[in-house]
Order: sequence, then structure tokens, then C-alpha cells
Amino acid sequence: MLPAFYMPKWVDFHTHILDAPPNEQSLAASQSKDAGVVKWLVNSVEWKNWIAHRELAQKQPLAMVGLGWHPEQVIEADKAQILGQLSRYEQELEKEDIPFLGETGLDFLYGKTAAARAKQEEVFAFFIRQSLGHRKMIEVHTRHAKQESIDLLLKHGAEEVLLHWFAGNKKQTQTIIEQEWVCSVGPTILNSPHVDHFIESMPLELLALETDSPIPFDGMASNPSWIPRVAEKVARLKGVSIREVSKAQAAIFERFFHQPL
Ligand SMILES: [Zn+2]
Repeated sequence: MLPAFYMPKWVDFHTHILDAPPNEQSLAASQSKDAGVVKWLVNSVEWKNWIAHRELAQKQPLAMVGLGWHPEQVIEADKAQILGQLSRYEQELEKEDIPFLGETGLDFLYGKTAAARAKQEEVFAFFIRQSLGHRKMIEVHTRHAKQESIDLLLKHGAEEVLLHWFAGNKKQTQTIIEQEWVCSVGPTILNSPHVDHFIESMPLELLALETDSPIPFDGMASNPSWIPRVAEKVARLKGVSIREVSKAQAAIFERFFHQPL
């Protein structure tokens, strides 16, 4: 057998795989190694989830864990709880060297009332300010609130942004390119063509790959080792080699974390 001269390396830029049962996590780790997926950017959705992920990550070298509060979870808290919780998050950011912030953002599928949306906006704005203050990348959820999320990011002058599972219209795409924000796409692109045009219109250096695992696709629990399949589809749509897609992923990783992949 000839030696492999070039083994592409990959990152799963948005996953929750540390929420999966332990046996699925170890399977994900061994399959990731085989597939060349060398980093998992694990998002946390609320405080307890952050604590659990941080603990698990100590034994999982692939994982980098983000500190976040998902908009779907935010609406369960009342105003006083939100204030208390945000000061806890603030202290955590002062004392820990946290690699990135996420998951945060807006979700108007769950946030239906003005009061619920105001809570989400307050928390999201907090994370944007922290992202700027601590110079950390922020992973943003935008379900049913793409424009509102972009507007809030612009209003606060956000810089190091990853819009997760995102596909925008022409005007939004233009803004994102101007701001040099990164967008991530995942396994949905494998069998639904509605994101193809968005991928074609985005520069490769602003396109990251993710799985949002362990959520199921086609009835199968996903995991970060699916990334090379997503990469193949992106390579085909962009008319570039797998190697170029892999290099773009490494460059995005380096941009966000100031270290080589
Ligand atoms: Zn997520």
C-alpha cells in the first residue's frame, strides 16, 4: 500500500455530541479519528450543560467546549433569574480561559411573545458584548430570526461570528461577506438542494462545516465523523478539491483560535 501523503483534517464547528450517551460518544471519537475529524466545537445550551460538558471534555481531547445559553432555554427563566445567571456567566468568563461562546442567539419558533423575545435579545446581546470584551468567537443560533440576529450583531459591532446552520437571502449574504462572518452548513445539504445556491454564493473561506450532532438525519443519530461527507458536497458545489475545503477549515480554525489545527 502506498503511504498516504495527504490526509485532510476536519473540524466539526458546531456539535452537542457530549450530550449523547457515553457509548455513542466513544463511537463518535473513534469514527472521528478514522475520518480525520480532529476537533469538536461542543456548544452548551445552559449552565448545567456547560458544567457537564466541561467535565466530560477533560477526558475527551477532541472536544473544545463553548460557554452558552441557548435561546430556547433562555425563555424558561424569569427576569430575575436571567440577571443572576448572567452575572454567573460573567464571572466564569473572568476566571476561566473559555475557547469560544455558544450557543446563543434568537429563536422565534419558541420565542413567540414579545416578552420571550426580549429575554432572548437581552441574553444574546450579553454574549455579543462578552465576545467583544474577551475577544472570543461567538456561535449564533438564528431559527426563524435570521434578520433579527444579524441586526443585533451589527448593532453591537460583533466581529468573530459563526452563524450556525445558516443560509441567508441575497441581502443577508452580502452583509455577512462584508462583515467577514463565518456561516456553517451541515448534513442537511447532503440531500436537500435548497442551500446549494447559498453555498455557491459564499466565499469558501467563510464556510465552516458542522453536524449539530447528535440530532438525527434520515433516522440516524449524527456524529462529527460525518464532516467529510458534508465537505465532499461543498467541494462539488464550489468546484474545488477536498484539499482546498480542508485548508479553508484549518484557516477558519486558526482565525478563531489563534493556533494551528
Ligand atoms: Zn446547536
